[in-house]
Amino acid sequence: MTFKVKGYAAYTNTEALRPFEFERREPRENDVEIEITHCGVCHSDIHQVKNEWGSSRYPMVPGHEIVGIVTRVGEKVTKFKVGDHVGVGCLVDSCLSCPSCQSNLEQFCQNGSVGTYNSVGKDGQLTYGGYSQKVVVREEFTLKIPKNLPLAATAPLLCAGITTYSPLRHWKVSKGMKVAIVGLGGLGHMGVKFAHAFGAEVYVFSKSPKKRDDALKLGAKDLLNYEDEATLKNHQGTFDFILDTVSAPHDLNTLLRYLKIEKNLVLVGLPDVPPTLQVGSLIWGRKSIAGSLIGGIKETQEMLDFCGEHNIVSEIELIKMNEINTAYERMLKSDVKYRFVIDNKTI
Ligand code: NAP
Ligand code: ZN
Repeated sequence: MTFKVKGYAAYTNTEALRPFEFERREPRENDVEIEITHCGVCHSDIHQVKNEWGSSRYPMVPGHEIVGIVTRVGEKVTKFKVGDHVGVGCLVDSCLSCPSCQSNLEQFCQNGSVGTYNSVGKDGQLTYGGYSQKVVVREEFTLKIPKNLPLAATAPLLCAGITTYSPLRHWKVSKGMKVAIVGLGGLGHMGVKFAHAFGAEVYVFSKSPKKRDDALKLGAKDLLNYEDEATLKNHQGTFDFILDTVSAPHDLNTLLRYLKIEKNLVLVGLPDVPPTLQVGSLIWGRKSIAGSLIGGIKETQEMLDFCGEHNIVSEIELIKMNEINTAYERMLKSDVKYRFVIDNKTI
């Protein structure tokens, strides 16, 4: 049994997104039905729409920064009731029994986690994301949103938030550490807020000098052009941790020069072209490069609760659904302060 939902979809990897009507399943006994009030626009949506990661399926309804209000619950749902403020991030299903899932790392489910869109669900159906009016999700993958947080500015926490919170926690970023966040976009600005909240001294590494005032307001000590020789001279070998959120190809060897010995450069940005790496950049200083993928459900809830306690939300520009194609164009020019969020009433 299904019901009709309106949304916006990419029909191919070259056309602009346009209206699309599709079917969602009626809530099963452990499902939550959510009226989507807002959905954040992640750069991953652009990579996927353009098939830059080579695994796109069409028509594609992007969107994995979903917030909204519960409208129906299945009879076995215990954690949610009609009217609750809830969120859905990048994941809508996993086996919940493999070693990864048992360790609260559903994103690494060894039997294949199911993405919120552009994925095939356990029922064989293509998943459709948050550029739509409603979504139906099993309760294990539904997050509670603290009541004090405004829904629109909370939407980006579901991906940009957890993707930066998780590595900062994993590598124990805290007071006394000098940290760089590379790229001041959706992920980057949340990285600055979290690293600052965790007590670190934060620098933004950016190619957009006009973002300096914003960087300082977000909690950074300074915004630096990391490819500038003078910057390198002043800060080489002084950073305890670098989080790289850049969406396009750039030079990792330069970034590694900023790290102290035995420290980590962690990549979350996922450009379509592999980086060139001189192995010597790692060997001299026993440095490491690591990657990180969103975060598990338990940690996503922990992040949302932390944001509720500390009043942390995203800086957003609210858009109408039919402005999505312009929003993509502006993101590709690094022109967004600092996350577009769709007002889903406009669909
Ligand atoms: P975004 O809002 O578009 O921000 C990306 C930032 O990267 C830009 O604001 C810009 O910062 C910088 N940048 C862009 N082009 C650049 C270039 N050619 N050279 C150097 N810097 C450049 O994107 P986002 O939504 O934050 O996503 C960033 C990346 O993370 C994407 O690749 C996305 O797919 C990936 N992602 C990964 C995960 C994960 O789980 N690992 C989750 C979500 C997203 P400045 O203007 O400050 O230079
Ligand atoms: Zn995302």
